[in-house]
Amino acid sequence: MITSRAAARAAALAALPAYVYDLVALDDHARRVRQALPGPVELYYAAKANPDPRLLRALAPHLNGYEVSSGAELAHVRQAVPALPLAFGAPGKTEAELRRALELGVERFHLESAHELRMLAHLADRPVDVLLRVNLPQPASSAALTMGGRPSPFGLDPGGAERCLPLLDGTALRLRGVHAHLASGLDADTLVATAARIADWAARFDTRHRLGLTEVNVGGGMAVDYRAPDSRFDWERYGTGLARLLREHPRYTFRVEPGRALSAYCGWYVTEVLDLKHSHGEAFAVLRGGTHHLRTPAAKGHSQPFTVLPRDEWPHPWPRPAVEGEPVTLAGQLCTPKDVLAGPAPVDVLRAGDLVAFALAGAYAWNISHHDFLMHPRPDFHHLDHSDHPEYPDRPDQFDAVACQ
Ligand SMILES: *Cc1c(COP(=O)(O)O)cnc(C)c1O
Repeated sequence: MITSRAAARAAALAALPAYVYDLVALDDHARRVRQALPGPVELYYAAKANPDPRLLRALAPHLNGYEVSSGAELAHVRQAVPALPLAFGAPGKTEAELRRALELGVERFHLESAHELRMLAHLADRPVDVLLRVNLPQPASSAALTMGGRPSPFGLDPGGAERCLPLLDGTALRLRGVHAHLASGLDADTLVATAARIADWAARFDTRHRLGLTEVNVGGGMAVDYRAPDSRFDWERYGTGLARLLREHPRYTFRVEPGRALSAYCGWYVTEVLDLKHSHGEAFAVLRGGTHHLRTPAAKGHSQPFTVLPRDEWPHPWPRPAVEGEPVTLAGQLCTPKDVLAGPAPVDVLRAGDLVAFALAGAYAWNISHHDFLMHPRPDFHHLDHSDHPEYPDRPDQFDAVACQ
């Protein structure tokens, strides 16, 4: 579950908690994702999943661009990786953000409303490429989050997209295509079916109004299964499905913009057990840190998968608190019952002073957390590249190919 490089670094950490990002594993994973997609499909990374500059740069060789969701994010990503194009999505873009995006030459704007379209048209002093974000019907599924097919602040209803078309006349805006990000947490078959519906809708819209569209952005939302941390979204199956869509819609460039399913696997949140106790018959471990550093399990209501890294030192003369062979709840230091990272989960042995490395902490983890609650110190951040622990290579054949600085 944890790469040997990350485990070796975790064991050597002096200051805890810490985030450990394995950029070699990230490079390897992103390469496989890229290889599973048909060549012409453009791969963008949704930077909001984790905008850490070194992650952004480690992903760069495998990407066609980044999807950004705010003025600050677009300036940040442009600075971290100046060479790759940006697509600016998100509801509620302000006039200042749109100005900034124009100044920085953002390559694509995903327009979410008629008002936004008018504002951008008013500001644009040169040709600007836009996609209309549409909220299309999305059949009910087990998706973790559904944005489409129901009332939401995201995008335009199909009828609203039609009504936007006359507003484009005589402006500097060039309608390139359609964007839709309808749900997240979907498996490959559901996501192919979703992409097919988006492309079919775009083609009918295009034909009906003779728009000459060239692009269809089918969004992100590839599932990460927190109950099975070693499983991966079936990129091969998704790629095969997209290849079929490319044949059906030869005029369109398809673009996908995953966030979570690219960066989740490379990150670990490593900390130590401060205390262990029983409360009304159940075992609790209290860890240094908590959901103010790793809000993912609280936000998604799951148990974050973890690995125990035993540490033998115990500096105190009194007995070491421990639990053996029973389910334990892993809580943090916050004074709220919501501060639970994992469990109740069975453990062989867990002792005060042992390390715990939480997996799948590379996406929507540190950057969605409420860092200042209780004013605990912030974690350290460690980025592992091919120079780290070459004696513990997870995939020695990949080491030369890494570009992660
Ligand atoms: C958040 C977001 C994504 C990425 O979603 P994931 O579930 O992380 O893949 C892609 N596109 C848009 C418009 C988003 O808001």
